[in-house]
Amino acid sequence: MFPQPLQELSQNLKKIPGIGQKSSQKLALDLLQLTNEQYNELIINLQEARDKVDFCQECGFFCEGRMCVFCSSRVRDYSQICLVEKPTDLIPLEKSEIYRGVYHVLIKLISPLDNVFPEHTNVNKLISRIEEQLTEKGSKEIELVLFLKPSFSADTTIAYIRDILSSRGLLDKVKLTRLATGLPLYYNTDTIDQATIVRAFEDRK
Ligand SMILES: [Zn+2]
Repeated sequence: MFPQPLQELSQNLKKIPGIGQKSSQKLALDLLQLTNEQYNELIINLQEARDKVDFCQECGFFCEGRMCVFCSSRVRDYSQICLVEKPTDLIPLEKSEIYRGVYHVLIKLISPLDNVFPEHTNVNKLISRIEEQLTEKGSKEIELVLFLKPSFSADTTIAYIRDILSSRGLLDKVKLTRLATGLPLYYNTDTIDQATIVRAFEDRK
């Protein structure tokens, strides 16, 4: 029914995670409503985002340049590291403004049954980061705040971190805490309300 270029645009938009047949078609049609100027600006934006946005070499969050806003901050507490799975998982905690430490994005959780081993995750970088913070950067203790959805692979990942820290004699200097009950078991980081996050963070154990 639609001209070929429009169909192709719709097909391409469908490659974006979370965009299905219907929304890709709607999006393609909506894009046609833009003025030439808006359209050109969008194209430039897309290219710029592609060229300039990268992952922080320190923590794995999005950044422009080498390091993200958290890792390059002068006011953040580097002895408090919050562990999340995906970059977007940290957004609700950050928005709640209760947390002033830094983050570490694992990208993936360890899951040997799915062939995901430590080297496929950002976990070894975390260990070296903790080590560096305790030695060169002089922190006496690190608090590792676990902000992971409960799952078998989350447990496996935490067990691995404990083992490595223990084998390097660092476990007594790392306090592992997790956000308290009050967080629903399968919370959605997009929709969880800030009061719940603040309470869960304050009551972390
Ligand atoms: Zn960072």
